[in-house]
Amino acid sequence: MTLPVEASWYHTARLDDRTWLITEPHVHPIFSANMHLVLGRDADLLIDTGMGIAPLRPMVDGLRDDPDKPVICLSSHTHVDHIGAAHEFETRLVHPSETDELAKPSPYSLVSADISDALANLFLDAGYEPLWEYLVNAVPTTNYDLDSYAIQPAPATGLVDDGDVIDLGDWQGEVLHLPGHSPGQLGLWHAESGTLFGADAIYDGPLIFSGPGMSVAEYTTSLKRLRDLPVNVVHGGHDPAFDRARMLTIIDSYLAQWGSA
Ligand SMILES: [Zn+2]
Ligand SMILES: [Zn+2]
Repeated sequence: MTLPVEASWYHTARLDDRTWLITEPHVHPIFSANMHLVLGRDADLLIDTGMGIAPLRPMVDGLRDDPDKPVICLSSHTHVDHIGAAHEFETRLVHPSETDELAKPSPYSLVSADISDALANLFLDAGYEPLWEYLVNAVPTTNYDLDSYAIQPAPATGLVDDGDVIDLGDWQGEVLHLPGHSPGQLGLWHAESGTLFGADAIYDGPLIFSGPGMSVAEYTTSLKRLRDLPVNVVHGGHDPAFDRARMLTIIDSYLAQWGSA
């Protein structure tokens, strides 16, 4: 099977005057994560780096007003669809509990047959469409070798935990530790604008809470915490942005499902 070539691998959309959304439309919805670029006065912030199938840095630099300004790469957690291009950035932040995965990523394949039945069923049960033959329906270059796909090591250069502040000079985001989907799951809260970068702690699609490293008990605590935040908008790790009313609906449906409403 020959997949079509899509040279413009990434899709970009401006969310507000300083925030860009970057996506990979040719990756299966389960593995098509949102990346967010927040432009600051003294530094820019990139939250997550996708699958690492095509070079990300040149595209990101093209969105920045000054490519020489530092760019901080924050990995919200270390699932494959969030860390693929982290190695392309000099400053790499992650929660202390997920440093090993960033430094020595677990092997992953773009061939769906290589994905364990347990994991494939977990995605199906969560409500996602069945996997395609490959995790992509296109390739970024004519000579792209699907079999050579590998996540590059990107050892953390700094650690962040709950309460830490990421300072871009004229924009400060507070780090939230929101375990449940993964042990070191991070969100970022910009109180001034009421913007929550929810990553995989909360997004407007099927949440994944029963795989390796996941904990419904911790997820419950994290969602209850988010419930109290006075958010205006949530930019999640997958799917489109949503408002506080939608956030509460999502949270309450999972808390009810887990018997802890
Ligand atoms: Zn994840
Ligand atoms: Zn994800």
